Amino acid sequence: MKSFSIAPTARLVGEIMVPGDKSISHRAVMLASLAHGPTELTGFLPSEDCLCTLRAFQALGVDIEIRDPTTLSIENRWSRLCPAMEALDCGNSGTMMRLIAGILAGQTFHSRLVGDASLAKRPMGRIIEPLEKMGAHIRAEGERGTPPLILEPAELHGIDYELPVASAQVKSCLLLAGLNAKGVTRILEPSPTRDHTERLLAHFDARPLREGRSILLQGGLTLGGRDLFIPGDFSSAAFWIAGTAAIPGSEIRIRSVGLNPTRTGLLNVLLRMGAQIEESVEEGRGEGEPRGSLLIRGGKLRGTKIEKAEIPNLIDELPVLGAIAALAEGETHIRGAEELRVKECDRIRCMVENLRRFGIPVEELPDGMIVEGGRPIRAARVSSFGDHRVAMACSILALQADGRSRIDDVGCVDTSYPGFFRYLEKLSQRSAEAVEGWKEVLSWTQPRPGPAGTEKAPRRPVVAIDGPSASGKSTVARLLAQALGIAYCNSGLVYRAITWALIGKGVAVERELVFKTAVRQMKIECRIEGNELHVWIDGKEPGQEARSPAVNAMVSRVAASAWLRKRLLPTFRKLADEHSLVMEGRDIGTTVFPATWYKFYIDADPKVREQRRKKQGETDSIEDRDWEDRSRPAAPLRCAADAVFLDSTGMSVEDVVRRMIEALRRRGFPVPKRPYVP
Ligand code: C5P
Repeated sequence: MKSFSIAPTARLVGEIMVPGDKSISHRAVMLASLAHGPTELTGFLPSEDCLCTLRAFQALGVDIEIRDPTTLSIENRWSRLCPAMEALDCGNSGTMMRLIAGILAGQTFHSRLVGDASLAKRPMGRIIEPLEKMGAHIRAEGERGTPPLILEPAELHGIDYELPVASAQVKSCLLLAGLNAKGVTRILEPSPTRDHTERLLAHFDARPLREGRSILLQGGLTLGGRDLFIPGDFSSAAFWIAGTAAIPGSEIRIRSVGLNPTRTGLLNVLLRMGAQIEESVEEGRGEGEPRGSLLIRGGKLRGTKIEKAEIPNLIDELPVLGAIAALAEGETHIRGAEELRVKECDRIRCMVENLRRFGIPVEELPDGMIVEGGRPIRAARVSSFGDHRVAMACSILALQADGRSRIDDVGCVDTSYPGFFRYLEKLSQRSAEAVEGWKEVLSWTQPRPGPAGTEKAPRRPVVAIDGPSASGKSTVARLLAQALGIAYCNSGLVYRAITWALIGKGVAVERELVFKTAVRQMKIECRIEGNELHVWIDGKEPGQEARSPAVNAMVSRVAASAWLRKRLLPTFRKLADEHSLVMEGRDIGTTVFPATWYKFYIDADPKVREQRRKKQGETDSIEDRDWEDRSRPAAPLRCAADAVFLDSTGMSVEDVVRRMIEALRRRGFPVPKRPYVP
């Protein structure tokens, strides 16, 4: 039995494409096999599940050539299916068994469908009953309507059928049976489920009609072969999306992933939990499935309630939602998800058991669970229970445990995401060391060039400290500079001073021309005096007025100006010509000094940051400020890939500074022999 050992990681960082969509891969092979004329499928998912479908249609007489693992040429030269010599093996795949049963129910020959031990326990009654209504002769050999399934020759006729549960598999099974039935098949869904079958039927020329909650399909239509590009599987991307969103300091871009709205319910839930996700839709290639990129940034999430109505659009994502609920503040309630009990395993019971092993308080409910988040995650040894999504969900959680965890029986991951563990290692930002809640990424081994590889290292050593408002970076940076005996530069002060001067002149940033003219006319002086950066505008220092509510309200909009940032860049860089510096801000490690070897990113729980701000007597919303700083196109707030990430929640300033000094020393920064830290 294969196991995988997972070390804790500070964050997930990188850019990926996920393998092709599993649901679409199954369906595409099936429909292309029924079509007249050739089809080339690109982006096929060569997972165990989908390969079972591929082999089954080869056994049914269809020519399927595997050009490369993700490209298939499919042509049914007989224009019909031929009887298979042996039982068709559906492996672990409930989707395959239920869908192919719809196709084989109306044939002139006998078929037998078998599966692995887990599939042998899954209920088939929900397709047997409506297929029999359509005239099928179908029998389950297992106990209580479980596989193997025997299908005898039959002529089918269309029916009007109301689905008792919202199930895309049952709907698709009946639509595929309806293709070969006399008359019209009409299916009424209690709530919308994934609609890949409908979209693909349209792609292959059989246009089902949607009327409210009903789908109608005319039987006896001929499908035509059509090339198809399969987008990345949202349910595979879901592990990275949820993991990245829940691990502060993470940032992952996922390209060319399917964004069919009947699949992306997870995004709505995560956004409600406070996640930072940007979505951009790519132009389709005419295959009728929306596709695009997602950019996810990590932060602290809060618990939420997931109700029955939401379940069909995120059913596959519930295991990973249960896992990251443990990383969110407060309780997460998952209800109305009894369907999870009859998936590849009883996903409610198995996830509850595993979460408890990780030390997370969780209550099992008949139809879901309540997870109490925000507790420390204990390293644990857990089982996948033979379920790929349980294995991957627990792997994501293990990244945040206090030591190495082990996931047993991980071979099943290949059923949907071959290569998942390779990516887990690649995206986990190198070996991380967890010390008393403080995580350091030990990535300081090689000097890194700037983004374009052209930036020169600053003349004097620069320690770059970035992070959101009230993360504690100013206090830390000042103390660190003192301890190191070098100058302290608050780059935000420059933006504040300019904002203060603009307010004094009554200039709004939105009036671009007036704004630029006003800034051009300003004499901006930045000098280090008394080992600290001072800023004068037209000979005047703003003093405390730089922190007035009016400046607070406007400064992020001023700082968002790409034009202004470009103009100030040489001013900031010049400071390092004559002084060793600790410079703090939002883009110091990423834009101002990308080539420095000494970078930190400090974050803290938003609630703690809000309290810190109130103590400082400032009442503006840090959420708004964070959002403006993170979402602006010019030098947005980001954790540089080679920065040490520090979560200062619950840590004293002195502790943070001591940790930074240790890290700087290891990296070869000229730290004084006995740095003074109070
Ligand atoms: O750090 P402080 O809160 O004083 O900075 C004020 C504002 O200046 C920030 O909210 C941010 O919008 C902007 N800023 C920036 N880039 C920096 C430093 C500050 O955009 N390097």
